[in-house]
Amino acid sequence: MTNKELADLMFPNVTKTIEDYEKEYPERNLPEGAVVSRYAPSPTGFVHMGNMLSCFIENKLPQQTKGVFYLRIEDTDQKREVESGIENIVNAINMLGLTYHEGVMGTDVQKGDYGPYIQSHRKEIYDTFAKYLIENGMAYPCFCNAEELEATREKQKNTKARIGYYGQYAKCRNIDNEERARRIKEGQPYTIRLKSTGNYNRKIVFKDLVKGKVSFPENDQDMVLIKSDGIPVYHFAHVVDDHLMRTTHVLRGEDWLSSVPVHIELFQKFGFKLPQYAHLGLIMIIDSNGVKRKISKRKDQDFTVESFHRRGFPTVALQEYLMTIANSNFEGWRMANPDKSLDEFEFSFSKVGSCPLFDTAKLINISKNCISKMKASDLYDNLLNWANEYDKDFYDVLVKDKDLSIAVLNIEREQKKPRKDYACYSDIKTHTWYMFEEYFGTYEKQYEWSNINDINEIKLILNDYIDNYYSAEDDKDTWFDKMKQLSKKYGYAESIKEYKESPDNFKGNITDIATVIRVAVTTRSMTPDLYEILKILGKDKIKERIQLL
Ligand code: GLU
Repeated sequence: MTNKELADLMFPNVTKTIEDYEKEYPERNLPEGAVVSRYAPSPTGFVHMGNMLSCFIENKLPQQTKGVFYLRIEDTDQKREVESGIENIVNAINMLGLTYHEGVMGTDVQKGDYGPYIQSHRKEIYDTFAKYLIENGMAYPCFCNAEELEATREKQKNTKARIGYYGQYAKCRNIDNEERARRIKEGQPYTIRLKSTGNYNRKIVFKDLVKGKVSFPENDQDMVLIKSDGIPVYHFAHVVDDHLMRTTHVLRGEDWLSSVPVHIELFQKFGFKLPQYAHLGLIMIIDSNGVKRKISKRKDQDFTVESFHRRGFPTVALQEYLMTIANSNFEGWRMANPDKSLDEFEFSFSKVGSCPLFDTAKLINISKNCISKMKASDLYDNLLNWANEYDKDFYDVLVKDKDLSIAVLNIEREQKKPRKDYACYSDIKTHTWYMFEEYFGTYEKQYEWSNINDINEIKLILNDYIDNYYSAEDDKDTWFDKMKQLSKKYGYAESIKEYKESPDNFKGNITDIATVIRVAVTTRSMTPDLYEILKILGKDKIKERIQLL
């Protein structure tokens, strides 16, 4: 029986050839040097920030080279699949503000000429490619069951032989085609294995864009390519898909590095051009015991993209932060170019670090900086979008008085060094609630009185202040002069310096007076610029708040 006859028996439904697919998915018509990259996650759970580093770089490279970025869903391991897995992935990419040209746009939506982009929809293609290997004697059906494989493994362990299905241990490799056909017709389950021609004693050397020159023994394992349920394994699907989708650059976790010899062998068997490989270190975190470890999909829910989005980290901050992990020279570039857009930074493989660490404190700093640079009206729009999703009540308050909201967000913003109070949108209400009547009127108030804490003295100073010293028209200098006069009147030094020179002559100094006014209108002893706060509140509201005491 010829290989061709065996292949026809194994794949009675395959009508196309691999040449048909070559024509269906031709070389892409792109400028010289354009990168075609893909994000190829498995829909197996939450998407955390560690998963997104490769996606971020895969998005960046085609931008730099006028290439194509697409999303492929690798759902060949159906046991590990979770409900809404695809939705989680698409949402996470959107939450990071990343876009892609082709691929899976939603659970039921795919876009592009190189699909289907979900592996479970590609069975006909995999069958055609597997059939080709059988026809050409480069793969064979294997009937070994789990017990037989286990027995081989035991034997290898006992004799200290290398573990695996190769050479003399590859039992089904030399069965003749008549016998194979007989067993198939009998209905025996089988996998399809690569008939490896590699030599373990020879080295294979390849260039990884991140790791540099890498060398491994050639593959000599007759790897399973198609499982007994007809579903391909990762290695096979990777080669077929990345070839047909015309991927030029394969970025993935370094846990795949040692599989490259298998992939190279498969690419060579088909006569396909190899893509460029870039294996990225897995992002680690330092846990509460100070131990460095991988981010866990199960335990570390605080690291999911969704969790950062819920807290309201702006997408620019998340991207900016990922770039600091992606390229070690980015922070220096950013320092030299504080106002340039991230798009202007050129990513380079040579600057990828080997052991990336997720540092939340750094993300917070970056995010504070990003938010401080937003124009108040842009911050308002971003905050509104966030609140619409995560804090409806605040959303309503913000919509009700847009001018007030923007004025509040603008406090200490239009200056050389804007304030950096907010790391994320969810911080904003905590820092500004007292500026909104809806909250000031309803919240349980705890006044943070400080040095001046006698309520009679407090009321005396405040009433005098609002009746005789405060005018909405005053500019900042006039306002401050009046604060000095008020301080003097009640026995407080006009400046800290004056107070320090002769502390016995005063009850305190001007900051004590300012604190009384500050606490009366905000309940807080520490706030941004008091002059701006008072100006936004206006005389009537200040008076109302004083009278509440
Ligand atoms: N589906 C693989 C994973 O989740 C992707 C590896 C790749 O990008 O090729 O690890």
